Amino acid sequence: MTRTEIDTTDDRHTQIAVDDPSTGAVIGRISVASAEQVADAVARARRAQPGWADIGPRARGQMFARSRQWFIDHQQEIIDSIVAENGKAEEDAVIEVVYCVTAFSYWGKQAPRLLAETKVRSLSPLVIGRSMYTRREPIGVVGIIGPWNNPLINSFGDAIPALAAGNAVVLKPSEYTPLTALLMERMAKECGWPKNVFQVVTGAGATGQALVDTADFVMFTGSTRTGRAVAARAGERLIPCSLELGGKDALIVLSDASVERAVNVALHGALFNGGQMCTSVERVYVEASVYDKFVTRLHERFNEVKLGKSTGLGSTDVGAMTFPPQVATVEEHIEDALERGARVLAGGHTLTSPGRFFEPTLLVDVDHSMKCMTEETFGPTLPVMKVDNAEEAIELANDSRYGLQASIIGKNMARARRLAAQLEAGCVTINDAQTNYMAFGLPMGGWKESGLGARHGAEGIRKYTKLQAVSVNRFPMNRDPHMIPYSPSFYRLVLRGLKAVYGKARR
Ligand code: NDP
Repeated sequence: MTRTEIDTTDDRHTQIAVDDPSTGAVIGRISVASAEQVADAVARARRAQPGWADIGPRARGQMFARSRQWFIDHQQEIIDSIVAENGKAEEDAVIEVVYCVTAFSYWGKQAPRLLAETKVRSLSPLVIGRSMYTRREPIGVVGIIGPWNNPLINSFGDAIPALAAGNAVVLKPSEYTPLTALLMERMAKECGWPKNVFQVVTGAGATGQALVDTADFVMFTGSTRTGRAVAARAGERLIPCSLELGGKDALIVLSDASVERAVNVALHGALFNGGQMCTSVERVYVEASVYDKFVTRLHERFNEVKLGKSTGLGSTDVGAMTFPPQVATVEEHIEDALERGARVLAGGHTLTSPGRFFEPTLLVDVDHSMKCMTEETFGPTLPVMKVDNAEEAIELANDSRYGLQASIIGKNMARARRLAAQLEAGCVTINDAQTNYMAFGLPMGGWKESGLGARHGAEGIRKYTKLQAVSVNRFPMNRDPHMIPYSPSFYRLVLRGLKAVYGKARR
């Protein structure tokens, strides 16, 4: 039985098999939560949440410190779980563990500051004498819907700031990679988190939909198509949502770049996590004067990349294709490119039995008539295009419905920054790629069809709160002069004052 076949022999216990994409072997089974079961989980979370909010951010930070230690003590078990269900290289799984350990520290320490009451000043004469501030309350129950490319960080990772803000969380991981999320449920229990503050519901799209129907906030990571459906439903319910969706991230190599650095950034940016990242480098534009040197060196490096099942650190560079339908998308983009005149310099083929892999693939002679340059490929492929100059590169980079991340490699910082400001992308890296995801202080969100809102930065935790604006009249009079019954002389005075302060004479 493969993991996508649903066992319906017993209606009460519908199950989905989970397989290891690098071998095809079934490694687990999950139950499919019905809409009622999701509603029950949300109701339990709603009852548990006030107690969790009441203990305050500092006590939650202490709970996170215990969880961080659990991660350190169980790091190999977590890594093995991620690798088994996702098929990635062990090094890529290490990054997920690093992310969560440091996220516990960051949100645990920063939550009190980022959620603190903030004093506000107003220039308006209508509120003279009042003191004003904003304060935040947790939203309630945050529903998180995660994809399969990062079983830990794109799902549980988003739970950390939501919990830090005093919310309860119900997480629906991808049906393809649910086991690491279930491991996190065990972590929460073993670390003594209050019951039902963090729960996992497993199942396919319908289970996710049920969560959108019941949660108070939805954090969704996945395709733009499903993101739209989630946002539409959230709109109907008038609940907020945050969406991290597709990308077609461009990397621009300027003529003054260190070619060696540019090649390494392009290679790692395209092949990290098997290219199955929303922030993967999906296309490269190289200024003509360094194009030949760049492509020659990148070609050599592509030929050195190890592809295969991970059996420990150093065993492979690029792992399996996690999501079966993704293989067809990658194949389609390559076939389309070849039909339109592109050349494959390295790779180009699917490998199966055992498992499901795609060769790291380098494409040249590409242009924007090809799907590989305009649609999200989400695989270990890299098309490289020669451009006359940086201005053309910027124009092509912006010729996309997506706007998640874009990168520039070059030595002249002033020029690189000037060009970066012209990029239509929520995240920009100079002389790097993908680094923004690891920088908790930097908001990471997409423009255009790449999403709404951001994870990380102040917005990354404040979005999980309701803002309350408070105005306090510390020295109230029995009656203010503007109150009913109106006094015409007072309002005449107001108009004269307005003229005196803002009128022509004062310009
Ligand atoms: P989806 O966006 O369809 O799925 C993401 C998550 O949403 C999964 O947990 C899925 O459950 C769930 N889901 C599906 N339908 C609904 C719904 N109507 N309401 C609520 N939740 C729902 O992505 P896919 O996994 O199908 O991948 C498709 C494409 O998305 C990829 O080819 C890739 O281009 C992109 N992608 C982007 C990612 C990113 O980081 N931004 C990550 C992964 C993929 P289930 O898995 O059970 O269907």
